[in-house]
Amino acid sequence: MNCQNCKTITEGGYTLCATCELRFAGTLLRLAHDVTPLHDSLDATLHPGGHSPVRIQTATPPTPIRLDVLDLIDMLDATARELWRCLDGIDALDWRKDKRNEDLKATLIACAGHPRLATFTDAGLYMHVINDLARKVDTVLDPPEQRREIGTCELCETMLTAGAADQWVTCPVCGREQRAQTVKLRRLKTLCWDDSERGSAADISKAFAVSGLKVSRKTITTWEQRGKLPRHADGYAYCDVYRLLIGSDLTKSVR
Ligand SMILES: [Zn+2]
Ligand SMILES: [Zn+2]
Repeated sequence: MNCQNCKTITEGGYTLCATCELRFAGTLLRLAHDVTPLHDSLDATLHPGGHSPVRIQTATPPTPIRLDVLDLIDMLDATARELWRCLDGIDALDWRKDKRNEDLKATLIACAGHPRLATFTDAGLYMHVINDLARKVDTVLDPPEQRREIGTCELCETMLTAGAADQWVTCPVCGREQRAQTVKLRRLKTLCWDDSERGSAADISKAFAVSGLKVSRKTITTWEQRGKLPRHADGYAYCDVYRLLIGSDLTKSVR
């Protein structure tokens, strides 16, 4: 037989290869671990960054509960119970025969450790569905834009992260509250006033974007090709790019 997930040849009777079985069990355990932060994320006054929640004060009164998260928990709950019934040989539609009374977390853990995880008929299908749910859970708990580095703490130099709309950040190490804009500008200033600071086109583009300055990687490389921007052995100088950027902005506004 072939593994239903990766198609490698498996021993007789196995619907998943050993690697995929481990991965499947790992994803189920990770989801079990995410159940509590997921419930915490239902509170709309929390930062969506559920793995390290910080309470925020929103400008408008928030909806008390995040419906997208509620839907996701419902879907995960239904899927986990359905998977458990499949594993235990109970007809998926005949849910009344399922006498289990455990919560979602316990159900996920039970599925991960089930002896039939790599032998039941629909293993590949469920692995696919569970992977998809795990991706959605990750997006709720760690939205990519929420984890942007904006600069270092003014007191202890810890790298701070903030969402695009955050006005204030609290340093996770020393607890100092500071304005996000100040942190961003300070970072830009250190980068641009110190002409030994170098980076790749991508680094510079990213660092500037965080501070609200738009310059694409392509623009930076084009400047180099046109001989406007010197490239050093260790990359471009932030201050050179900054000067060109400010210059090109001025030209645009004059036109
Ligand atoms: Zn496999
Ligand atoms: Zn600090």
